[in-house]
Amino acid sequence: MIAAMELGGTKTVVAIGERDGSLGEEHRYPTTTPEETFETAIAWFRERGTPEAMGIAAFGPVQINPKAEDWGDMLATPKPNWSGFSITSALREAFPEMEITLETDVNAACLAEARIGAAEGLDNVAYITIGTGIGAGVLCDGRLLHGALHPEFGHVLLPRKSDDDFKGVCPFHGDCLEGMACGPAIEKRWQKSGDELPPDHPGWDTEAWYLAHGIQALLAIAPPERVVIGGGVSQAEGLHEKTEKLLVEMANGYFPALKNLPYVVPPKLGQEAGIRGALMLTGL
Ligand code: ZN
Repeated sequence: MIAAMELGGTKTVVAIGERDGSLGEEHRYPTTTPEETFETAIAWFRERGTPEAMGIAAFGPVQINPKAEDWGDMLATPKPNWSGFSITSALREAFPEMEITLETDVNAACLAEARIGAAEGLDNVAYITIGTGIGAGVLCDGRLLHGALHPEFGHVLLPRKSDDDFKGVCPFHGDCLEGMACGPAIEKRWQKSGDELPPDHPGWDTEAWYLAHGIQALLAIAPPERVVIGGGVSQAEGLHEKTEKLLVEMANGYFPALKNLPYVVPPKLGQEAGIRGALMLTGL
């Protein structure tokens, strides 16, 4: 039995399936306290058997380095009760023989989109999600990028759009990419949430401007062959096209990857990307 868990800030998904990402049975429920969330997961798996391997895609920040002493711990997070909770201990206790692979939720989604989704077959892919925050998973040379912890794409510092005096909402940096372009930034800037802003609202030009600059930074450091943008805010009509157009203009012919259009695309796997990617983690 191959198991997977997608631990999100608001919802958790547990599933059984195959190492190639084929999804069998799954169950979705709200994320509450860590204890309750894991009790529900463990009980659900136990009813189905004893998993030999589990892939976990977790919200962050989380220690995903298996060599670190605090591997599996949730690091300082504003989400009440979660800081310091050990994801891996709870599961180890329930299933001592089970092999565990832990990743960030965005890296898992990136892997799934690169293998069977909107970037199928590519070895260099970025998956960006825009919602209450901004994050990215990056596949580089066929491997998920980690570094000292994991990429924190939302916190890249970018030049300001010339007519923009918005202070930004990131509690650490103010006007980093996340501070300028996440869901709460849109809401604070325009007093309307992203899904209330009409597609022709100038807010989307601002959004595309910051995204395009963020993607150019990615292109300069860990160049993706394609960029997938998902998450609630990305569902605005025309945002992918607008971002790509601006990026191509700005990049001025410099990056060969931008010759293969479409370059900025929506996800293909929708809400299944994270959990299917978590299943694939067991096969890495
Ligand atoms: Zn920041």
